[in-house]
Amino acid sequence: MYSHHLSDTDVFSPHLDLLAPSLIEDIGHYTNNQYDARLKQTVLTFLPTGWVDGFCLNQDEFGNQLDGYVIGINEGLYFSLQFIAKAYVLESVQGDFAQYRRNGGALYHDAIRLFSDPSANTLSNIFFEDVPAEVDGALSGAQSSIAMIILQFIVLHEFGHIVNDDLELMGLYKIHVAPTRHDNEGYEPNNTYWESEYKADEFALLSICQKAKNDISAWANFMGIYLLFRWFADIEKHLGKTLSEFHPPPLKRADKLKALMRPTIPGWENVQDEVERIDNMTHVWYTSAEPDK
Ligand SMILES: [Zn+2]
Repeated sequence: MYSHHLSDTDVFSPHLDLLAPSLIEDIGHYTNNQYDARLKQTVLTFLPTGWVDGFCLNQDEFGNQLDGYVIGINEGLYFSLQFIAKAYVLESVQGDFAQYRRNGGALYHDAIRLFSDPSANTLSNIFFEDVPAEVDGALSGAQSSIAMIILQFIVLHEFGHIVNDDLELMGLYKIHVAPTRHDNEGYEPNNTYWESEYKADEFALLSICQKAKNDISAWANFMGIYLLFRWFADIEKHLGKTLSEFHPPPLKRADKLKALMRPTIPGWENVQDEVERIDNMTHVWYTSAEPDK
């Protein structure tokens, strides 16, 4: 596995090359292989740039229609998910590991900073330093599984656009995850775009929930996804502008997903404190001064 001292993105690239085909398999699994025809036309690729972005497209750069779809995930998005997952894990450890509990604010700011300036970050913070090997194993495992659920949600969201024919219906050739660098000039944002985003979110969340082992696990997955939208909202705060008028505000998307979960997955009364904890935690993370490195 990785050396803890490597901060070069080259460390991740071989891993991501293997991850791409396994994410395609994950989509098949989560959707009970009912969209196999579409899935066979879909290629997933990691782009070796630090930008926090992901997208889905069906045309090449010259405007020629592809005979399928490309879902692209920038490595910067992958790294950010590792940061926010680690922040969540560090702030949440209990029991035997309680002594390793730390404020996740610095890591949260690392993930936000990665959005504005991919070259400014050191990736070595992604790893757990200064903890015994067995603790490292447990915490890194928790971090990976949270980051993976969020990544699967993003990929399923993009696949939702493909299944719903959104690219064709809206005439867009490229739909972004975190679209400050979008290619939608000439299109007027309107409710149709927002509705299609809500539908893609719903598609992704329900696909993940119906494969969860039990209700507790479905809610645990939801927490990671909820955290993603809190982070998007804080990126908007940090930038002082909305990420995309083609997307509903991140917190509205989070609320929609919460409203979808409550009647669908039993146990809201047991998890609402955790949702509130995430709200408070991310607020403290965002408003706390960035510590010196
Ligand atoms: Zn979308």
